[in-house]
Amino acid sequence: MKLVVLGSGGSWPCRDRAPPAVALKLNGEILLFDCAEGTQRQFMFSSVSFMQVRHIFLSHLHGDHFLGLPGLVETMALNGRKDRLDVYGPPGTAERLRTLFTVGYFSAAFPLEFHDLKDGGHLDIGGYTVRCIEASHLVPALSYSVEEDCRPGRFNLEKAKALGIPEGRLYNRLQAGETVTHAGKTFTPDMVLGPPRKGRKIVYTGDTSPGPVITDLARDADVLIHDSTSDAALVAKANQYGHSSNVQAAETARAAGARTLLLVHISPRFGKEDEPRILAEAKAVFPDTVLASDLLELDVKLRE
Ligand SMILES: [Zn+2]
Ligand SMILES: [Zn+2]
Repeated sequence: MKLVVLGSGGSWPCRDRAPPAVALKLNGEILLFDCAEGTQRQFMFSSVSFMQVRHIFLSHLHGDHFLGLPGLVETMALNGRKDRLDVYGPPGTAERLRTLFTVGYFSAAFPLEFHDLKDGGHLDIGGYTVRCIEASHLVPALSYSVEEDCRPGRFNLEKAKALGIPEGRLYNRLQAGETVTHAGKTFTPDMVLGPPRKGRKIVYTGDTSPGPVITDLARDADVLIHDSTSDAALVAKANQYGHSSNVQAAETARAAGARTLLLVHISPRFGKEDEPRILAEAKAVFPDTVLASDLLELDVKLRE
């Protein structure tokens, strides 16, 4: 599981930062969160291919979060894509995107589906569950979590031996969750496996001011990718426009018990010279904070 920050800025493209887009690479396919203008070109500078994008989750339809979509889809078509692509967003997204895709002489050579998701919605994408909640922004907006399914517990070799189960195929079947029999006795997986091991969890807030719903969504996240539009000094203005400050993002990460906080949607008003201060303000509250830069790649390892 790998996270690739394609655009770490907010509002508009600037010299140091592209606007929002984050790719999450799972087994052979990519989930893309937001698709700002230029996202397809950012992909070309990264280690992942946009042809592998299978699902796109838009946080909302402010221009800095979706204007890269028509261009990306057009390029996928020109490159011979045949695989289906699903695009999700808050209520109203499907209708608006259908309209957008009728403006030019565009015809996708592959299935392209638009979906509205609601507050509290969830989606099973094979091995992972995507959940969404309504974010606190100026227009309908969603925050997303991706949770990997639990894995079976660790195999306890001593227990298995003590029970008289012979090594080999029966061990594999028990590890896979099957009940087996040997010498007239029945053995269930719980007799030899430890407790189920939790999968990884990634949370992408999109644009939002802080609140208990976001904290709940971010509970125990391995990586919390959080709106960090402003620094500590400009927090009131950030909240007025449905955004968060770096320190508020850090407070949420701490309250939620997240493992790593990734600050994104950095306002174009901040330059390179502000970065050490922005990071230090957040780290004072939540030490495991990373200030995202474009093309930053983060391996998300299993905890156990
Ligand atoms: Zn934005
Ligand atoms: Zn916005």
